[in-house]
Amino acid sequence: MDDLCQAIAARRDDLIRLTQDLIRIPTLNPPGRHYRDICEYLEARLAAKGFTCELIRATGTPGDSLEYPRWNLIARHTGPRPGDCVHFNSHHDVVEVGQGWTRDPFGAEFVAAEDRIYGRGACDMKGGLAASIIAAEAFIDSHPDHAGTIEISATADEETGGFGGVAFLAQQGRFAAVDHVLIPEPLHKDRICLGHRGVWWAEIETQGRIAHGSMPFLGDSAIRHMGAVLAEMEETLWPLLAGKRTEMPVIPEGARSSTLNINAIHGGEADQGPDYTGLPAPVVPDRCRITIDRRFLIEEDLAEVKAEITALMERIRARRPNFRYEIRDLFEVVPSMTDRDAPVVRTTAAAIERVLGREAGYVVSPGTYDQKHIDRIGKLKNCIAYGPGVLELAHQPDEWIGVSDMLDSARVMGLVLADLLGPGDTA
Ligand SMILES: [Zn+2]
Repeated sequence: MDDLCQAIAARRDDLIRLTQDLIRIPTLNPPGRHYRDICEYLEARLAAKGFTCELIRATGTPGDSLEYPRWNLIARHTGPRPGDCVHFNSHHDVVEVGQGWTRDPFGAEFVAAEDRIYGRGACDMKGGLAASIIAAEAFIDSHPDHAGTIEISATADEETGGFGGVAFLAQQGRFAAVDHVLIPEPLHKDRICLGHRGVWWAEIETQGRIAHGSMPFLGDSAIRHMGAVLAEMEETLWPLLAGKRTEMPVIPEGARSSTLNINAIHGGEADQGPDYTGLPAPVVPDRCRITIDRRFLIEEDLAEVKAEITALMERIRARRPNFRYEIRDLFEVVPSMTDRDAPVVRTTAAAIERVLGREAGYVVSPGTYDQKHIDRIGKLKNCIAYGPGVLELAHQPDEWIGVSDMLDSARVMGLVLADLLGPGDTA
């Protein structure tokens, strides 16, 4: 397999150019720009290498419109012998640029002295996409008679939930014939990401009665009721969550407990905006809302997580006259964690050890990514995230990807293909 590793090393310039080309297509999401352009670019490249390509629009999914259609690409290369299907899934969308850049975010500047390519999406995750393409092309060139099928997908909207991307493809049954999935998210070249914690987003509203602000005793303040909710959370909820520890190897360490963030709070009179020059009106607020973001562990059950909040609200109701509230679900994802003995995990771990000369690390992501759809909708457990790049750089200014990291990851991916689809005497 040294031949394959050398063939990948020989494609270094191609890898740099490919990564630059991908970064230079500004696939900003929201709103979802240039999705068709990046799919067509990839289609042209992969079709020339013998892949059968399919462009799929996720019509009618959130955000899809005539102006911003949700385009996805699946490219497939089937060998002459029967075998497994190995699927590399990368999202092609990137988040907004933000402030603080010292480089052109879509210039894809390669700084040779630093061995880095800069740009929005370099690390999350066009570098990973490029590495998987180079690995697959080098493997096919050296094993034209390979078994089974290699699939490469470039999918929309991961950054906004993945409904116009992997979720849509999974609903269409596109993972039904897939055996192994690698998602080249930037988890670092020596680590295997097994999955992610669960999510529950909800809106909690407290309700009161409107009255004149000079006679608040005639009304009932929804903001004071919400104050009681926040005080109860401080006293009982956060200590309870901090005490819940998981066996999942979540990184960073702080995310190894249950967490809850209050994303927003709104109560009383609406903000009139910067053009309004008048004074506020004296009104007792009859509505107050918070949005909560609860991240939960594989040891927890979503029903229990919700019941915990209901119980907290009921404790307050028992001691507070006229306390009324509503809880509305916004979004939920159950935790996902692939078994360490799963074939794709064992194969990737062995490849990391051979390429890097050290044991693979195992991690779990604090937030979710497209694995949730492959697991829940696609019903495929044999899935990991593995790819080059430093996770902390994702969504930051001056995001970059290291070329040697991409090459090492491509070697690992190439060995995974050789192990799963090769002649069998090479593992
Ligand atoms: Zn990503």
